[in-house]
Amino acid sequence: MPRLFLGGNHKCTGTIGSLKTLLAQFAEKSIPEDIDFVVAPSMMHLPLAVEEAKAPIQISAQNCYFKKGAFTGETNIEQIKDIGLEWVILGHSERRHVFGESHELIATKTKTAIEAGLKVIYCVGETLEEKEAGKTEEVCAGQLEAIGKVLTEEQWKSVVIAVEPVYAIGTGVAATPESAQSTNAFCRKWVSEHVSAAIAKDISIAYGGSVKPSNAEELSRQPDIDGFLVGGASTSPAFLEIMEILV
Ligand code: 13P
Repeated sequence: MPRLFLGGNHKCTGTIGSLKTLLAQFAEKSIPEDIDFVVAPSMMHLPLAVEEAKAPIQISAQNCYFKKGAFTGETNIEQIKDIGLEWVILGHSERRHVFGESHELIATKTKTAIEAGLKVIYCVGETLEEKEAGKTEEVCAGQLEAIGKVLTEEQWKSVVIAVEPVYAIGTGVAATPESAQSTNAFCRKWVSEHVSAAIAKDISIAYGGSVKPSNAEELSRQPDIDGFLVGGASTSPAFLEIMEILV
């Protein structure tokens, strides 16, 4: 059975004050142990989040680089582990499309992060143009294949897939439950055919893109949606409402 997953991706937002307030609001709520409740603040705020977050809240980085050394502006995996983190988001569409990260780079980062003991929230998803051209499955398959080429079956146990259609991110309009279910089911089938049936049965496949309390219920009822990766609504108590709908 896949484990329920709820991730909050704060992207490039937040201040010391807003993060402290948010984590204090989360601390007042009882968070079930059987869900991965993962908060990903900006890199700048990770040490603060580690200090302030109470178990079972987990903290994730939003990105990492696979080497240390002369890479100005980057954060390496050793540093992420050094502050006590267990999670990193990789392959987010903003990294792919705004910063031009290639399949190869993302796959190398994923492999290196997992080898170092991190769990990876691996994002896939098509643009509107690709969806309209009927290429959703082809695009997601290509993104899964990039890591499929480098990961062992065992290493897939450290992956959560987050399916985030690019057209649904930050627009206020989520994919329809039918469309989200169809893409998530396709990803599970891909894992079954290219990794193993056992991994496909247990891997958590989340949906992301304009998730909010008003649409979370119907999305969460879909059999292949095991949770959410939330952007905007994760920086307010709405995130807790989404959790209550999910569990
Ligand atoms: P929104 O929930 O703001 O659409 O963002 C989704 C996302 O990109 C999470 O990684």
